[in-house]
Amino acid sequence: MTALAESVAAFDVETLRAQFPILSRQVNGHPLVYLDNAASAQKPEAVIDAVANVWRTSYANVHRGLHTLANEATEAFEAARGKVADFLNAPSADQIVFTKSATEAINLVASSFGATLKEGDEVILSQMEHHSNIVPWHFLRERKGVVIKWIPVDDDGALDMDAYQALFTERTKMVSLVHMSNVLGTVNPARALVRIAHAHGAAILFDGTQAAVHMPVDVADLGCDFYIFTGHKLYGPNGAGALYAAGDWLDRLQPYQGGGEMIAEVSEDGVVYADAPHKFEAGTPAIADVIGLGAAIDWVNGLDRVAALEHERALLDRAEAGLAEIRGLRLFGRAQDKGAIASFLIEGAHPHDLAQLMDKYGVAVRAGHHCAHPLMKRYGVPGTVRASFAPYNSFDEVDAFLKALHKAMSFLI
Ligand SMILES: *Cc1c(COP(=O)(O)O)cnc(C)c1O
Repeated sequence: MTALAESVAAFDVETLRAQFPILSRQVNGHPLVYLDNAASAQKPEAVIDAVANVWRTSYANVHRGLHTLANEATEAFEAARGKVADFLNAPSADQIVFTKSATEAINLVASSFGATLKEGDEVILSQMEHHSNIVPWHFLRERKGVVIKWIPVDDDGALDMDAYQALFTERTKMVSLVHMSNVLGTVNPARALVRIAHAHGAAILFDGTQAAVHMPVDVADLGCDFYIFTGHKLYGPNGAGALYAAGDWLDRLQPYQGGGEMIAEVSEDGVVYADAPHKFEAGTPAIADVIGLGAAIDWVNGLDRVAALEHERALLDRAEAGLAEIRGLRLFGRAQDKGAIASFLIEGAHPHDLAQLMDKYGVAVRAGHHCAHPLMKRYGVPGTVRASFAPYNSFDEVDAFLKALHKAMSFLI
């Protein structure tokens, strides 16, 4: 056996699947084939238990507590912050802000960093961004006259690096890019992107919502200014996401929202903010969900991540080989460095119809614009069908997906 075949063989999908109760259910009389992982991943027993245990045994509001439950909840909540920091290889847990989602994390940066921008300052985005990394910057365009510039995406789904370099001017203040595309699967060359941004004196943020799920992320090595991800795509609860900010960014930026938990002192005439990261966490956070995110990180750390990634690649290869045999099929995303996402269109079959028909066979795929209108416009399509894979998916499921797709096509074409 080759090294790859060995590690794929060693990757025990059935044992993994057994940890996810939902994967054994039936949908429309068929075993569920869940290939919508890029939209949200399913949860292992360890995460479900961690969240339920908070509610059952140690729930109270966090911080400022003088009683035992409050102290236990605070300890578990802050332990989760340490887990996020370690997961990203951030130098300190104080550089991690909990948010309710990736969307909120980007809004936080766009708002707090955006407060330092002036009319005519420039922000660089790419054509493959998720709407959550576009709209918050549009707010700055509309409200402050900030200029947005766009890195083009080539036919294979890779960023045009020459065009990227050419976009910089002395007014460029921020580059905000997806690390791994939720539509194309493209993994962008993060270190090179950082090097170029910093050479031009601009800060750089990565939307790691997909990347953090599929590959180890090391923010210290990347050298980026901001990195964000969301818990629900990382086998954790929804309602918990995180922002990492390098160096003293959190000290330098204004708070995003005001309220309890984020202050040191409030009077009729003024306010003294709490130290970072609490300065950015106004109000009661999603306590059990954040603790659940910590459990999800523990669970991911327990995976053989190299083997998991190779297994996902093997699933994608099998799916793409099957798709390649379909006449009139157009596959989006052929970049060299690519995660386990297959986006495609079939001539004569509307993506929504295909997805709905495949659901009749228990196969869950997503169809539509995937919150990436500019990318759809770039390729001149209204949407695609997207199958996105997780380590708990099996080769049998890839075959069931292809079979369901052929059945769906037979009704439409
Ligand atoms: C899902 C996703 C988001 C948004 O995440 P939320 O948790 O819904 O805020 C942002 N960027 C990418 C690339 C995504 O896939």
